[in-house]
Amino acid sequence: MAKIPINIKEGKVKSDSIIVGIDLGTTNSLVAYINDKETIVVKDEDGSSALLPSIIHFGPDDRPIVGKLAKEKLITSPERTIYSVKRLMGKALEDIQSFQTNYGYTIIDDDPEGLVKIKVGDRYFNPVQLSAEILKALKERVESQLDAIVTKAVITVPAYFNDAQRQATRDAGKLAGLDVLRIVNEPTAASLAYGLDTDTTVNKTIAVYDLGGGTFDISILTIEGGIFEVLSTHGNTFLGGDDFDQAIVDFWIDKYKIKDSITLNGKSLKQKLRIEAEQAKITLSNKGFFDTKINGQALSIDKKEFETLIQPLIAQTLHSATRALKDAQLTIEDIDHIVMVGGSTRIPLVKQSVGTFFNKIPYDEINPDEVVAIGAAIQANILAGNETNILLLDVTPLSLGIETVGGLMDVIIPRNSKIPIRAGRKYTTSVDGQKNLKISVYQGERDLVEHNRKLGEFVLNNIPPMPAGLPKIEIHFILNADGILQVKAKELRSNIEQMIEIKSQYGISEEDMAKMLIESIQHAQDDMDTKALVEAQNEADYIVLASQKFIDQNKSWLTPDVLKEIKKLTQKVKISKMSGTKDQIRASIDALNAYTGPLAHQAMDQSIQQALSGKKIE
Ligand code: AMP
Repeated sequence: MAKIPINIKEGKVKSDSIIVGIDLGTTNSLVAYINDKETIVVKDEDGSSALLPSIIHFGPDDRPIVGKLAKEKLITSPERTIYSVKRLMGKALEDIQSFQTNYGYTIIDDDPEGLVKIKVGDRYFNPVQLSAEILKALKERVESQLDAIVTKAVITVPAYFNDAQRQATRDAGKLAGLDVLRIVNEPTAASLAYGLDTDTTVNKTIAVYDLGGGTFDISILTIEGGIFEVLSTHGNTFLGGDDFDQAIVDFWIDKYKIKDSITLNGKSLKQKLRIEAEQAKITLSNKGFFDTKINGQALSIDKKEFETLIQPLIAQTLHSATRALKDAQLTIEDIDHIVMVGGSTRIPLVKQSVGTFFNKIPYDEINPDEVVAIGAAIQANILAGNETNILLLDVTPLSLGIETVGGLMDVIIPRNSKIPIRAGRKYTTSVDGQKNLKISVYQGERDLVEHNRKLGEFVLNNIPPMPAGLPKIEIHFILNADGILQVKAKELRSNIEQMIEIKSQYGISEEDMAKMLIESIQHAQDDMDTKALVEAQNEADYIVLASQKFIDQNKSWLTPDVLKEIKKLTQKVKISKMSGTKDQIRASIDALNAYTGPLAHQAMDQSIQQALSGKKIE
């Protein structure tokens, strides 16, 4: 049931026309909105800060706590406290291998699509669910302060986010009960906050320099007739204010010959040093000198010393700027404006170095922590129809996609994408020797196709027989400005091709669309649970087949006891697939994998030995 908001004091039905802008950040997240031309960046309940730490802690009752209180648990309960979830969005484990050791919590990858999950106690969460918790906290923050219900949002993402990461962000919004009207690039939002799009008669080129706590990126954009385009982006996802703090810690350890052997009040000396180092860095943005005492040891640093420490790090960011310019095929003279984003751009040497590099004074008047959220709120206000001078581009009202294994909807063109648009994805077969592939096209926001609207289907025939997983089938959606959708399927090894054309908007009313949307939000949690269950079941099928293949190929050397154990564990997977919960299925898969993993290694050794035997070594 849809909730009808009523203002108890005035006895009026509340307007739900407010659309919020959300900066979903790696370290901190913010929410803002525009009320009658005034931009409001919403602060926490005690009014002290607009920054919500992007941290989620799961207490003993498994209930999530988000923000400041969760941050306090980072040291005492790291295995149940999740931070930097944005770095995991739409990622596979191999993408994050190099920095996985930095996490205090457990990341696993047993997802059929290879996406990561986080294990907390005996529960599994994916980054979408965790990001949804952050979005929910922001939504509730606005709702409690405005005494209104918020259902619509614009969310920002880095310009370098790929389709999967953008889709994951949309899904997180939906799960938090938000209709995500648009995903906006962070540098675009920052430029909007400075009103760089308002004069549509002049084309501009902008560099957005974003140096936060843990990440750095620079993007080069153009604005032509009010339309933004990102030309290039460069950066380092592991460079930011935290590295400046670390440089100060190292400087002190070296200068005062400090040994890290002391632990006080649960915090190690290193942790205390880091806290003081950040304080020193912030102080040195306004003063020439900082001093303090830790455990009787006096510590000090002056601005010159600090600047010498961070100079090489700033140089790295300017190196990225050079590369971004090169990729955009531009020179410094082509840049009309520079916009500063992120807390670390408050450092005078950073501002100065960027200004000298571009030979221009950067825009830095708006709070660099808030500038992206403010831009998102401005975009939201445009979408709410409160800005009449700004052109709105045509967008698709509902997502378009195809049915995949287990009746799941795989979105190829997300709703609210600007049209015309072309998007594609590669698929493969699931059965050995499969000759035909049915492609069913759907429209809608639900995770199971049975709840969406079927637009049409066709069969790609005459796929040359190959083992499952080998054919490469590319499916392309082309949606033109009139809403006509062309769906093409092509097997890339044999070049066979098939196509249909569909009127995507034909026979669907505005009310039907609104209904489909509301239902998708109301059922987001159920849908997500069902999707996770279907994915676990698909994976169970896959692993049962794989272990059967393994037995067939290796029965010559497997002992009867081992064979019996594999069969027993496989049987458990089969049983849990029939009637188990998602977590039960996963646990049975984990158990089978844990047992067969070392055997697979042995099998590999066997086949190497076989390959070597009989061959003469000269
Ligand atoms: P952000 O990720 O954009 O929220 O930026 C957070 C980073 O900005 C952290 O490393 C902070 O220590 C740093 N920061 C915040 N204020 C200042 C300041 N006044 N001077 C230097 N660094 C700051």
